[in-house]
Amino acid sequence: CGIVGYIGGQQAAPVLTEGLGRLEHRGYDSAGVAVLGSRLQVTKRAGRVRDLVEALPKRLAGKVGIGHTRWATHGPATDVNAHPHTDASGTVAVVHNGIVDNAAALRERLADAGVELASDTDTEVFAHLVAASSADTLEGKVVEALAQVEGTYGLAVVHADFPDRIVVARNGSPLIIGVGEKEMYLASDLAALVRHTTTVAHLDDGELATITAGGFTTFRQDLTRTATEAHEVDVDPSAYE
Ligand code: GLU
Repeated sequence: CGIVGYIGGQQAAPVLTEGLGRLEHRGYDSAGVAVLGSRLQVTKRAGRVRDLVEALPKRLAGKVGIGHTRWATHGPATDVNAHPHTDASGTVAVVHNGIVDNAAALRERLADAGVELASDTDTEVFAHLVAASSADTLEGKVVEALAQVEGTYGLAVVHADFPDRIVVARNGSPLIIGVGEKEMYLASDLAALVRHTTTVAHLDDGELATITAGGFTTFRQDLTRTATEAHEVDVDPSAYE
């Protein structure tokens, strides 16, 4: 349903939960965040964003993170089915808007390969597919995972071995990058960005992006670069207070 992300000089958790609060009007049944500091920490709950905020560990340090509000399509609204989803080792975390059409086949193939699936969701397959990829960049791993997936996605991925970046992908579900001063934001909806920045880049369907604290680059599934650039949006931030 809703996606947010942050990478920069601030603590990520409060930025993420504030952004999720701004997506509440879209409706959702669960919320969660993954914060990447000295390790990757995931907190997620069925219920409201304020239930998530109460559940956050007191010391949740990390300046990179992704967050999600879920509108369940595959599996009931439970803590385990909330996003972010991780692989078995807790190295990869993903949030996802949309529907994986071939989730049943992918879940079966993963289970046959000995992977224990924690949730009932279609989304969880992304985490295991990214973790299983032998590509040596996070971009390569995400592209390899996407090649196996049929369906719609706005997707954001963080990986403990690549702590300087968030990799995102869009196919049928909006993703907007917000450009700050040595910090970058991500959201599925402008409402979660405009308080921070009005310089934004909209991804196209079929496009991916690497977001670092210093900027972003966009590319296709064959890893060739695309020319998507940031532009100023003419919005009155006070309209989103
Ligand atoms: N299909 C995913 C799920 O059920 C994502 C739903 C959404 O877009 O929030 O978990």
